Amino acid sequence: MKLVAASIILIFYSFTLLSFNNFKSLYQVKQLEQKYKINIATNSYSGGDYAKRWASWNTPTESDSVEFLKFISIFSEEWNKYPTEWIKVNNLKNIVFVKDLKVTHQQRFAMPDPYDETLYFDIEYLIYGEKYVREMIHHEFWHAIEEQQFGDMYFKNSTWCSYNVEGFKYGSGGSAAYDDGEYSYGEHPRQGFVTSYSIYGEEEDRAELYCWLFTSRTWSLLTSWIIEDTILRKKYNWMLTFINGLVPEMDLEYFEELNS
Ligand SMILES: [Zn+2]
Repeated sequence: MKLVAASIILIFYSFTLLSFNNFKSLYQVKQLEQKYKINIATNSYSGGDYAKRWASWNTPTESDSVEFLKFISIFSEEWNKYPTEWIKVNNLKNIVFVKDLKVTHQQRFAMPDPYDETLYFDIEYLIYGEKYVREMIHHEFWHAIEEQQFGDMYFKNSTWCSYNVEGFKYGSGGSAAYDDGEYSYGEHPRQGFVTSYSIYGEEEDRAELYCWLFTSRTWSLLTSWIIEDTILRKKYNWMLTFINGLVPEMDLEYFEELNS
């Protein structure tokens, strides 16, 4: 009888380990939820129609706790750069932490689902470096912002495009870079673009420029390039004006202090 009871406990314990985590009770998670009035999902999250159709993921378990702790400490540093008003005007409701995230056939760090006001992040991406993760947290949020503010994640803006040299054409979107054997990451590869990824799509150009405003290294590079790069300067001014128009406290002084 004792053996049966022990086995049942063991099975139950393994099941718990495999299918559940206690990350929700961590200080960093609670702090973000309270400050920004958003839901943070660390356990199974069913997802909206868009996510169900295009993406797949797994739920982290207790055995991922070391990885999760590292991830959430970086994530919370980046997210806490945002004034609460910025999250409110962009109507974000949920952040979901997952692993093995795939969008169509591609492995991805993150996926915005603006139709469900949700952002998904894969907690295992620190293997690609802290710099990548810090920048991409903001980059992915931009896609949701674009849908919220302009009604389309692939918004076309003629003013923005007019800044590029005449005749310039963007590539066929960010996902093309993942499938492009020729793609390699480079910074300020030509006038007007912060990275080589920016060239793949108009929305990626804005997402890249947006995320470059939020970390000190990229801010200092960007603000030095715009002295001579007039195309980039126009895009930078567009972005700052756009953000400041929604949340007045996010002015030049705010960005300078953030990155000082
Ligand atoms: Zn993107």
